[in-house]
Amino acid sequence: MIVKKEKDEIISYLSDAANFRGNCSEVIFPENESDVINAVKSANAKKEQITVSGNGTGLTGGRVPEKGSVLATDKLNKIISIDADKMRAVVQPGVLLADFKSETGRLGCYYPPDPTEQNCFIGGTIATNASGAKSFKYGSTRNFVERLEVVLPDGDTITLNRGEVFADNFTLELTTNSARKITLNIPEIEMPKVKHAAGYFIKKGMDAIDLFIGAEGTLGVITEAELKLLPTPENFLSAVIFFPDEQQALDFIDDARAKSYESRKNGADGEIDALSLEFFDSNALDFLREDYPNITASHAAAVWFEQETASGNENLITEKWIELIEKRGGDLENSWIATDVKERREFQDFRHAVSWKISESLTRNNLRKVGTDTAVPHDKFREFYYYSKKLVADAGLAFVNYGHFGDSHMHLNMLPKNEDELILAKKLYGVICAKSVALGGTVSAEHGIGKFKREYFELMFSEEKIREMAGIKKKLDPNLIMNIGNIFSEKFYH
Ligand SMILES: Cc1cc2nc3c(=O)[nH]c(=O)nc-3n(C[C@H](O)[C@H](O)[C@H](O)COP(=O)(O)OP(=O)(O)OC[C@H]3O[C@@H](n4cnc5c(N)ncnc54)[C@H](O)[C@@H]3O)c2cc1C
Repeated sequence: MIVKKEKDEIISYLSDAANFRGNCSEVIFPENESDVINAVKSANAKKEQITVSGNGTGLTGGRVPEKGSVLATDKLNKIISIDADKMRAVVQPGVLLADFKSETGRLGCYYPPDPTEQNCFIGGTIATNASGAKSFKYGSTRNFVERLEVVLPDGDTITLNRGEVFADNFTLELTTNSARKITLNIPEIEMPKVKHAAGYFIKKGMDAIDLFIGAEGTLGVITEAELKLLPTPENFLSAVIFFPDEQQALDFIDDARAKSYESRKNGADGEIDALSLEFFDSNALDFLREDYPNITASHAAAVWFEQETASGNENLITEKWIELIEKRGGDLENSWIATDVKERREFQDFRHAVSWKISESLTRNNLRKVGTDTAVPHDKFREFYYYSKKLVADAGLAFVNYGHFGDSHMHLNMLPKNEDELILAKKLYGVICAKSVALGGTVSAEHGIGKFKREYFELMFSEEKIREMAGIKKKLDPNLIMNIGNIFSEKFYH
């Protein structure tokens, strides 16, 4: 097993895409499950911290170590099997999502979890329960995880099969692979009824596997996953529609969402049933104009949508969308409709370009973006959107607003130009999170809490309930060695 200690060799493991920096004494590269067990047992025996690393595209400092060692999953990068008949794949955690998608695609299979950044590892997407554009139709990564192999913080291992172990109300009894029984008391809380990735998944009678998905590496190292696949759809309709007014774009999204829900409920064919509904405000379009000069000055907002189609329903579905675009005042003439796979990919790149360009420009200038990851109930979204936008605009901060608006999930990115503005942006971030919670929403719909967002997580649940959640971690990690700093502030462990 390779262990690196030289500063220039380990420096890239000390930060993530949010430009948050940490410290460690070494980076360990296990090549199999035994290596992981040995590394974790050694850290546990010495009571030294160990932080699990995926590919570092996280936006909350989750893989960034406070101290101790980093366990990098880069060499656990095998696709073990893809069974196109059973629609199942087995992978190690260090498989790159982009590679996994192209391999499964080659075999006629389709893996919908689709974080905008595809340069992440499958392990990272499971640990953060990543979601993305396609989550509007298919939900988050959780919905595709059928089995996990996990090395617990004491070096014992556990196999979690979906549908096998359920909590008795709020008590979960786990059996490790060494036949050790662990009883966990799950706090009696209700998660918000929106897309949500803040803290542990909690539900009365929950499936045990769900506790480990989205746990941000605090409960163990994922060493293998069995994932559910779907048959590749015959075709996709993909379009970027520009609107002269953002109100019209929001109306368009509301209509498309309602129609999609109705189609799914009725099992209707040949109707609008969006795969993704993504919004870009005028500031986002300004940001993109340099690379996409065909966005005209009169465009104040855009919506990128996709829908799966087949030869039998393609024309009908396209007609339905055109009808809706015209009804809501979309500029059909100057909008983009993909005619082939290449153009569809270009639209995906267009979506990626917003978040990537922002991150890249801030990193270049050594600044940090302050970007929300909030989702609220659909009927509260308009109120939330205008409230947040006015708050930031009135404070004189530059911002870009875009996101997975089909899920009422908004990334309002404040772009502070100096330290004073950074302090102000962080303050407003807290106000926006509090508003989201007050409206029944979440402070994190997809990125997780990591080390950045702990204080906002505390807006969501009482101190007592967070302490109970941290109690799950303490039960599985009594020496508090693994991914310390993620989700819970120090105070919840004592
Ligand atoms: C431009 C951009 C766009 C993005 N868009 C989205 C988006 O649309 N949706 C979304 O959900 N996210 C998005 N992200 C965030 C990020 O891509 C995801 O969170 C991704 O899942 C992280 O994967 P990673 O391999 O890079 O993990 P890392 O950043 O390395 O780690 C993330 C967390 O997972 C833990 N972890 C990693 N591997 C394991 C393992 N094997 N076992 C246990 N714990 C582990 C780490 O300790 C850490 O806490 C975006 C990021 C960028 C830069």
